[in-house]
Amino acid sequence: MKILPVLALSFMTLFSFAQEQKKWQGKFEQLDYLLPTPNEYRSGSGAPGAKYWQQRADYVIDAEIDETTNRLTGKETITYYNNSPETLSFIWLQLDQNVNKKGNEDFGSAFGGLQDTLNTQVLQYLIRPIEFEAGCTINSVTDKSGKNLPVVINNTMMRIDLPVPIKSGESITFNVSWTYAITDRSMFLLSREGYEHFPEDNNNVYLIAHWFPRMCQFDDFEGWQNKQFQRLGEFALEFGNYKVNLTVPADHMVAGTGSLTNAKEVLSAREYERFEKAKTSFDKPMLIVTEEEAREREKTRSKTKKTWRFQADNVRDVAFASSRKFIWDVQAVKLPTNTVLCMSFYPKEGQPVWFEESTKAVKNAIEIYSQYTIDYPYPVAISVNTSNIGMEFPMISFNGGRPRNGKMSEREKAGMIGTIIHEVGHNYFPMIVSSDERQWMWMDEGLNTFLQTRTEADRYPQFHHTEPKDIVPFMKGDKNVMRPVMTTSDNEQLNAFGNNFYVKPTVALTILRETIMGPELFDRAFKEYANRWKYKHPRPADLFRTMENVSAVDLDWFWRGWFYGTDHVDVELSEVKWYKYQAGKQDPETKVKVKSGDLTASQNQQKNLDFSSGPMPLTINNTPDAAYGDFLSRLDDNAVKQKLDGKNLYQLKFKNNGGLISPVIIEWTYKDGTKEIEKLPAEIWRRNENEVTRVFSKDKEVTNIVIDPKAATADVNITNNMFPKKAEPTKFEQLKK
Ligand SMILES: [Zn+2]
Repeated sequence: MKILPVLALSFMTLFSFAQEQKKWQGKFEQLDYLLPTPNEYRSGSGAPGAKYWQQRADYVIDAEIDETTNRLTGKETITYYNNSPETLSFIWLQLDQNVNKKGNEDFGSAFGGLQDTLNTQVLQYLIRPIEFEAGCTINSVTDKSGKNLPVVINNTMMRIDLPVPIKSGESITFNVSWTYAITDRSMFLLSREGYEHFPEDNNNVYLIAHWFPRMCQFDDFEGWQNKQFQRLGEFALEFGNYKVNLTVPADHMVAGTGSLTNAKEVLSAREYERFEKAKTSFDKPMLIVTEEEAREREKTRSKTKKTWRFQADNVRDVAFASSRKFIWDVQAVKLPTNTVLCMSFYPKEGQPVWFEESTKAVKNAIEIYSQYTIDYPYPVAISVNTSNIGMEFPMISFNGGRPRNGKMSEREKAGMIGTIIHEVGHNYFPMIVSSDERQWMWMDEGLNTFLQTRTEADRYPQFHHTEPKDIVPFMKGDKNVMRPVMTTSDNEQLNAFGNNFYVKPTVALTILRETIMGPELFDRAFKEYANRWKYKHPRPADLFRTMENVSAVDLDWFWRGWFYGTDHVDVELSEVKWYKYQAGKQDPETKVKVKSGDLTASQNQQKNLDFSSGPMPLTINNTPDAAYGDFLSRLDDNAVKQKLDGKNLYQLKFKNNGGLISPVIIEWTYKDGTKEIEKLPAEIWRRNENEVTRVFSKDKEVTNIVIDPKAATADVNITNNMFPKKAEPTKFEQLKK
């Protein structure tokens, strides 16, 4: 567009009262070089490209738990399909149990120093005075014909060097046998699995995960996943089908990823009958094993063993829990395209809340997540009670939260239910929409916590769920050490990852949905992302691009600010001016002539603290002919004046003190007590990232203006959000405080 000089002059008059400008920081510039160049594997639209490929691994696993030694011994046959265009002369497997070996510098050890007095638990976490066996022993790795394959173990990863490389489109079948000592979960920090011992009845609950050597992810953007397991960055795994046969003491109940294919064999006749019945119990959970039966089982030890058989299709991992202590309940849930058995397994120590709340929470989670993404695709969704933390696996999760003496405060209960929803929700991110957790912790934790919040808002409105203001204390923090959300998982500080990878993305997505895009545009785009990347490996750019492509909203400024930066939101309502035009009284014939467009001519008339000095008079001139240039038509000067007669014109100036671009929500309170909410899009900052002036015409007189009245934008300083201005405490008063 080219603008003729005479019109350009009018533009300049209108916009020339722009104020002192801070340095331009390109906050609305396109992400450009920050995103990978689209290619035939990943398209610029955010969808998988025409030649997208992904590896696959199928497993047949036989494993046995020895309850007397607390050891797990297993053998597996892996069939690995090379769908990549490359020839692979070696392959990598994950040996996650090695993270528990003494001396492994990870978050399983407590960091910090000695103090004069420390309790035994802290010392155990710090330097492990009670040593225990940990780590995986590989007994053999052989090819199809039983010939040994050479391996190299590097900490939590194992490379197999292949005598014959796997060409593109080919597969390899090989065998691994291994054993490891199941760790006592009380012996170190941040253990996601292991066994919990119950001294009262001398029984264990086994939570078995990260338990078999499994294929590392090999993909188009990194090749082999090559970051060691350091606990924070979890996993990057391939999809496949699993046949898992688990041999455990005959009186154990086993909860596992997949369909139980030999229920008739492992359950008693009575249990089996209940299980079959529960498959059509849609209104409430049915007990397969009652508390009385579990209490009875605790008293004896079976000398024999049973093998539980599970089949799990299209999953990236499997886990299980085993104990004679388990109470077990089941409820069926019908989704539009699938019927799911929601189940819970818990010791009597979880009662009575676990029967009342766990399966219900599983049901609530899969129903709401299905609405926002895809119908839960698997046959079962299981919640297993544990002493602490929550940890997710396909179809099964271990969830902390137990009453004391049968009682639990409402807050504790909300925390427990929130954990169950969260861990069941991980079935979607990262178990189905399978991002690389070693690189981007926020891609599963952030998206999952966002949907956890949606679930709680819908099904447990009485609970506190994450709101934008929850991130304010974090975002006010020290910018010298603060990392952006787009930080590699294990590079985050232990006291910050919860805020940075869970809460901040949740708040960002909440603001994106509620305030920037609106639910209609957001929900459609978010659902598209889940559908495009289900059973695939998305990168951050695939999410960013999909959200923009489906909604036609340019969000580069948003990703740049919230995900690549550490700025916070602090919008200040820095100035308010009130003008009034009254026809006749202020016509140029009777008043001093005011320069056309110069709204600031009378700025000294008002001290700008409140509305007490009344409106400033606005003088309206007729537009001079010269302003029209070659236009032959003319505005009707009188009509404009008539329309504005008696109107209150408010000029608001906003300052962006925090740096993070934000929409501005204005609440007007009128003299008659009524209120009005008005929303300015983030786009208002495009031409001036630091300061924006806007003019509003109102019929009624305004007595009060508040920006972000409902704390919807994570504004860290609300004391500068209102007019009339509240007197700020002086330095002396602050010090005194
Ligand atoms: Zn999580």
